[in-house]
Amino acid sequence: AIEAREVSAWFGERKVLDRVSLHMPPSSVTALIGPSGCGKSTFLRILNRMHELVPGATLAGEVLLAGDDIYAPSWKLTDARRRIGMVFQKPNPFPAMSIYDNVTAGLKLTGTKVKAADRDDLVAGCLTKAGLWKEVRDRLRQPGGALSGGQQQRLCIARALAVRPQVLLMDEPCSALDPTSTRRIEETIEELSGEVTIVIVTHNMQQAARVSARCAFFLAEEGAPGVIVEAGPTRVVFDQPEDSRTADYVHGRF
Ligand code: ATP
Ligand code: MG
Repeated sequence: AIEAREVSAWFGERKVLDRVSLHMPPSSVTALIGPSGCGKSTFLRILNRMHELVPGATLAGEVLLAGDDIYAPSWKLTDARRRIGMVFQKPNPFPAMSIYDNVTAGLKLTGTKVKAADRDDLVAGCLTKAGLWKEVRDRLRQPGGALSGGQQQRLCIARALAVRPQVLLMDEPCSALDPTSTRRIEETIEELSGEVTIVIVTHNMQQAARVSARCAFFLAEEGAPGVIVEAGPTRVVFDQPEDSRTADYVHGRF
């Protein structure tokens, strides 16, 4: 599980998140929804310690991964990278690097050791989990940049999985993709959800309803920082929300 406790965030003087608490249970998919600018991406970056890399960015609160504070002095940035993977809106494989080397790139970046003899199996396994193996098994030496957008995104998922993260954060992973690629990625999310804690930001309410068991609605009202208005089982948030603003948002009324 990954849990945010009273997380606030600032860019310079400007507060963009205010005391956000959210428990994301293990082996499950949590969807983060809410209008543009309410702090969803910032929240994801706080969950894997990317926020601190933004100049002028600060934060308060705690993030616990399986009970461990990831901001404790004993945690290094590479620990966060290894245990908490991230996939972005725009697929970002290393374009000139081979498909094979893209998958193993995360190992080097995080200092994860895998025996040379086990590498081929790892690459095949991760590409299989990402739903890409059949399409690329005969062209593993071709550059990642030669793949289609949807394939590149699945390659990025394979790369994220190679270090065996406990959590996979996905920031609008399908918004640059066609419906078929989107469906493939949703299938992958469903298959992975048994073994990894998944947090997905999406503007697509149907997608949130399809893939997530739990859901959190973020909102930043006029000049105020982002907060979680409501969180809980997706079906409840969608069908019986407690707050009228949640109902308005999920039903497309703003
Ligand atoms: P979207 O749905 O459009 O992706 P979001 O919910 O992901 O939006 P964030 O990108 O987290 O929102 O942005 C939250 C607030 O923080 C916004 O007001 C944004 O302008 C501000 N912000 C984000 N990144 C930075 C940055 N690097 N420097 C300054 N302000 C930033
Ligand atoms: Mg965003």
